[in-house]
Amino acid sequence: MTLLSVRHIGAFYGASQALFDVSLEIAEGEVLALMGRNGMGKTTTVKTICRLLPVSAGTVLFDGQDLARLPAYKAARMGLGLVPEGRRCFTNLTVAENLIAAARPGHWDMDRIAALFPQLADRHDQSAASLSGGEQQMLAIGRALMTNPRLLILDEATEGLAPVVRQEIWAAIATLKRDAGLAILLVDKSLRELSAIADRAVIVQRGKTVWSDAMANLTEDITNRYLGV
Ligand code: ATP
Repeated sequence: MTLLSVRHIGAFYGASQALFDVSLEIAEGEVLALMGRNGMGKTTTVKTICRLLPVSAGTVLFDGQDLARLPAYKAARMGLGLVPEGRRCFTNLTVAENLIAAARPGHWDMDRIAALFPQLADRHDQSAASLSGGEQQMLAIGRALMTNPRLLILDEATEGLAPVVRQEIWAAIATLKRDAGLAILLVDKSLRELSAIADRAVIVQRGKTVWSDAMANLTEDITNRYLGV
């Protein structure tokens, strides 16, 4: 069943239009890769879906309900769990406080997050500010999971991390797909890892969806045309 249906959306930053015609769909349990070169509109798409930017045209339906009129906190309550670009943990709180502050009842609790990221569990009482970049990313994912989302949105979750840490994050995402059957929207630059995990992909260029298909159908030609440097 379709969980998220984004149809022909537009969005502006002030007077400047960033999205012109973006469409994408995510079914329950599906992993979708949102791809495109730098500045093409991936983060703006994510922000618009999460109601952090107004939808100027088109529709965003989540579980059949129109999100366009809801404030961001209500969209979050409906089950959108965003891990924003740049992580944004509360650095004045401990790891445990960060997780508890986000908690809503459901499958995900402190124990399950600890099982997913054992490294984080060892640091529950430490300030989030004392964590490494990779641990802060794990905490940001943990926070989003604590809201018990129906759709997890990861915007550049592996950016700026050491290769070994990136692999830990990818392994956690694979676990979420395999064991929790969570629907996931992934924005990332690592094509190889995306190919391994995503069921389908959407490519945006200058604020428009230009390609959308099964990940397995992403050819070298398409990659060169829309993703190459
Ligand atoms: P990246 O991979 O670099 O994060 P992206 O695909 O996520 O790229 P967006 O951040 O969505 O791209 O940017 C899309 C367009 O909107 C770009 O032209 C960018 O310059 C513009 N833009 C992004 N944020 C703002 C902002 N806060 N104010 C004005 N314009 C913005």
